[in-house]
Amino acid sequence: MAPVIYPTTNFTATEQLCLERGEGIYVFDSDGRKYIEGLAGLWCTSLGYSNTEVMDAITEQLHKLPFSHTFGGKTHQPIQDLADKLAAMVPVEDAYIFFGNSGSDANDTHYKMLRYYFNAIGKPEKRKIITRERGYHGVTVAAGSLTSLPANLAHFDAPLEALSILRADSPHYYTARQGNETEAQFVERILQNLEDQILAEDPDTIAAMIVEPITGASGVIVPPDGYYEGLQALLRKYGILIWADEVICGFGRTGADFGCTTMGITPDLMTFAKQLSSAYFPISASVIPGWMYEAMVDQTNEVGVFGHGYTYSGHPAACAAALKTLEIYERDNLFEHAAEVGSYLQTQLREIFTDHPLVGEVRGKGLIAALELVSNKTTGASFDKGRAGATAQRLCQDNGLILRAVAGNAVALCPPLIITREEVDDMLTRLKTAIDASYEELKAGGHL
Ligand code: PMP
Repeated sequence: MAPVIYPTTNFTATEQLCLERGEGIYVFDSDGRKYIEGLAGLWCTSLGYSNTEVMDAITEQLHKLPFSHTFGGKTHQPIQDLADKLAAMVPVEDAYIFFGNSGSDANDTHYKMLRYYFNAIGKPEKRKIITRERGYHGVTVAAGSLTSLPANLAHFDAPLEALSILRADSPHYYTARQGNETEAQFVERILQNLEDQILAEDPDTIAAMIVEPITGASGVIVPPDGYYEGLQALLRKYGILIWADEVICGFGRTGADFGCTTMGITPDLMTFAKQLSSAYFPISASVIPGWMYEAMVDQTNEVGVFGHGYTYSGHPAACAAALKTLEIYERDNLFEHAAEVGSYLQTQLREIFTDHPLVGEVRGKGLIAALELVSNKTTGASFDKGRAGATAQRLCQDNGLILRAVAGNAVALCPPLIITREEVDDMLTRLKTAIDASYEELKAGGHL
């Protein structure tokens, strides 16, 4: 085995899938086997695997100017064009954008910019960040501490205490409801908990709350109706900024341009990566409102510069990839396409799986969805150690479908946005075969 430290991997596991090439929504392994990439890589390959327009835009840029940094007085056309385009798309007033390389570093950038901003306006005590149980926001030091999944915290001594992070309830009704409470009662209870927490901490010490409109890696959680409306009212009441992590939801995924649009959120800050360039080149964006930027300007004089930046911030080829990706979204009406095919996917998933004995909940919006696998459909009891999720993921792969088990026993779907209805049908046929086989295998093993 090559001496690779594989990310988010069990080092004792020996099975590996070696992919070699891709085409449309399909990938092929080194033995030539074909798979539907039902998770768009890692929720990112929105334009599929053979978009020559994006490839050409990247190579053209590489031939022209393969690198230029953007520190202290340097700029180039692609970063300016991309910033103009993205600023015009986002629901943030007079947006300013910092470019990075990954969703994690973009969230770290926001974390730091919030400190920078509140220091600039003379409120250094306003520094705590609220995140949610089960949230996923990346793995760098600040983003990893904002993440609430056990594997990302354990043994790393995370969260870092100095980061002042508060954790609010997960908004997942199916797994976090108490007794017979209705969705409305659930929402009321968790928002009341949050208000109590804000008051106990002192609102003047809380800078922002980070939310992923519909969560991805933490299980594709779609909060109940009324949750975001109540949450925003609460945060506005206490002067706490709303920071939307759109790393997965951004650009058509949830059936609208942004997850914030789908869920009715008016964000102050937004984080983007993944579908920003359809993963053809690493790039991320941390978007802030103009009033936040303006307040930071004078402070940069004190020490001479805004002392944050990556070598590859606004890499010209990454900007060219993102610019072309955004152009294609617009020209081909891909958000509308994703909404239409997504609505078909959601209907079909519910039709096929709602009554399945292994499926407790079918959830999602647009082209992101999950099946919650349960050992008891009535009580919603789960399986130990993600057993059902791992079984389903393996059997999907055996049936030529790559999906991902998330949050233990949920199987997530997030196909490229270019997927057609016919391809959705093909994907669901394979999924049904795999879920039926998982049920039989778990039953034979005495787990049901
Ligand atoms: N935020 C969210 C919501 C994510 O899903 C992810 C990655 N899955 C990240 C942040 C981190 O992005 P990256 O892996 O590019 O660092």
